[in-house]
Amino acid sequence: MKIVRFTTGFATEYGVLYEDAVIGIEGSPFEAVKETHRHYRISDVRLLPPCVPSKVVALGVNYRSHAKEMNDRPPDEPLLFIKPPSSVIGPEDKIIYPPSSKRVDYEGEIGVVIKSLARQVSREEAGQHILGYTCVNDVTARDLQAKDKQWTRAKGFDTFCPIGPCIETDLFPFSLKLETYLNGELKQQAHAGQLIFPVEELVSFISHVMTLLPGDVIATGTPEGIGPMQPGDTIEVKIEGIGTLRNYVVKPEDSSNKE
Ligand code: MG
Repeated sequence: MKIVRFTTGFATEYGVLYEDAVIGIEGSPFEAVKETHRHYRISDVRLLPPCVPSKVVALGVNYRSHAKEMNDRPPDEPLLFIKPPSSVIGPEDKIIYPPSSKRVDYEGEIGVVIKSLARQVSREEAGQHILGYTCVNDVTARDLQAKDKQWTRAKGFDTFCPIGPCIETDLFPFSLKLETYLNGELKQQAHAGQLIFPVEELVSFISHVMTLLPGDVIATGTPEGIGPMQPGDTIEVKIEGIGTLRNYVVKPEDSSNKE
């Protein structure tokens, strides 16, 4: 099942995505999903970020290939940082290139969406707290990341966390295949089996640090192939079975994201 959040221009609601239609659901997808009689053509709705996270917990280095390209040692434990909720945008939204940076990179990542409150859960219990998977772009001001000891600024600009287009609830994490395309050219390719710390371990590890809430997102880290984007570029993160998260890089004067 593909869960989406969308607007028709009036109300915002959750729904289930089909090939060319969206069907509204009762309440929230974090409880039992019950479809309503509200049917929409996909062309009549605008997809929003598929959830509203209280936090996006991201992984510093979680692929050996990326550690190598950064001349970094793979960490002994998951390396965590937070992207603020205000950085989240949806599919087809614009990534605003901040004037204070000279190098803004894409980082295609597999996103894990939390279903239910998770506090100090074991690896074995982790699965029951996962709603599904989505695409994330951990946009990063690389020059500011190198300059600052903490990553909050480099990772935290408004629009630096595209999420979507949907949450797929029926995939197994080890089967997820990730690709990133810059202006249609393949730049990153990986599968979840290459994660240093797999999904269940991440949920468990993070839940021993902070309580995870329904709708929270874990960005599981980026593989090798990171690189810069420029205003005018189109960036796409694709995961087989989920879809394509497409966003456009713009200068601040060309920004007009609605949410
Ligand atoms: Mg990242």
